[in-house]
Amino acid sequence: MKRKRKIAMLGGAILLSTGILTPLIDSPVVSADASVISKPSISGFISHDELTRTLNQIEKTSKGNIVVDVAGYSNHGREIYKATVGSGDKVVLIQSEIHGNEKVGTKALLNILKEIGNKNSPEMRQLREELTIVAMPMVNPDATELNRRGNEMTWDEVVEQFPQLDGVAPSWNYYKYTNQYWDYASNPGFDVNRDFNPDLDYVPQPEDFPNSSSDPGWFITPESQTIRDVYKDLQNEFDKVDVFVDLHHQGEYVIDGTDDPVTFSLSGVFVPDPSTPEGEKYREYADDYDVDFSKQLNIAAYDALQQMGNSPFGNISLYPQDLDLPGTALGAFALNGSGSVLFEITGQTQSYGQKKLGQLTKAVERGLHGILNSVATDEVYDLDVEDYDDIPLTDR
Ligand SMILES: [Zn+2]
Repeated sequence: MKRKRKIAMLGGAILLSTGILTPLIDSPVVSADASVISKPSISGFISHDELTRTLNQIEKTSKGNIVVDVAGYSNHGREIYKATVGSGDKVVLIQSEIHGNEKVGTKALLNILKEIGNKNSPEMRQLREELTIVAMPMVNPDATELNRRGNEMTWDEVVEQFPQLDGVAPSWNYYKYTNQYWDYASNPGFDVNRDFNPDLDYVPQPEDFPNSSSDPGWFITPESQTIRDVYKDLQNEFDKVDVFVDLHHQGEYVIDGTDDPVTFSLSGVFVPDPSTPEGEKYREYADDYDVDFSKQLNIAAYDALQQMGNSPFGNISLYPQDLDLPGTALGAFALNGSGSVLFEITGQTQSYGQKKLGQLTKAVERGLHGILNSVATDEVYDLDVEDYDDIPLTDR
């Protein structure tokens, strides 16, 4: 598709912190503490090579139910895959690991694919008949391999691709800091999940840099471009992408008013409603935006977890709701009419490692099944939107 294949790996340098502030949505861990810490093991997670092998295997054993394609390439030439299962006219796009240190979603997504592609229970058959599920596990593989948030790309490479940006200040989400976990100073990169724009045909303009968190992004990274292109192809084929789910991780929190540790947080609200005064700047998207449907999808995930009874699986909370993040995939796709769901699983890998890996993976699978089943059966449309506000808040 593009680009030479050049794999440059970071040599584990641990340098002094400079410290930056980055706005909310699982903000990166930035510390002024210059002490060297030992990183927890992440060997239980999936590398890009393992992803390639696993997807090939899943495709083979599915007997035609799952089709795996290369959707595009990362800046360093690694494949970004999409796996499609089902032939229904309701479209569900699920992605994981747009932040490379947020890895549980990839495991959960592969398990879900395997199950839906291989099993012949009435429930799985119904999912395949009613839905077209497009899974994009590990959409930022260069970051995955570095176990870090940002991709691996310099501003010079952006300008090479978009010469009209010569001489402008780099985008605000360009990382060049160093802390005890990461060395972006010698190996810079972008927060890909701020590089989306609700205008899916947007072309970078010099006056739109450096922008800020509450402005749209630019599609300057090959990773966001690949996801955008998959989304647009689905729009062209099916008219709309009904559901978009993005799998992330956050820090460690408790449920508001309790000591119960959060298993994951959910959200369906990423921008102010375009039909309200606060959402005025998004007015052109008012007809497509459907926050009620996003809320129903979140309730479907929440209910599926509550049905597992009094266990850590029940500790699901709501993510902060007062966001204005049009540069996130969720913000941009929600404005394009997709019912949207954010999963924020507990603990990022650079500090939390792979604790509770099995349990967290199961919980995410259960939540995803709640969404898929409710859409396949149309039960989601009967859920009471008001129940969304009964999901407990996160103490943060
Ligand atoms: Zn994230």
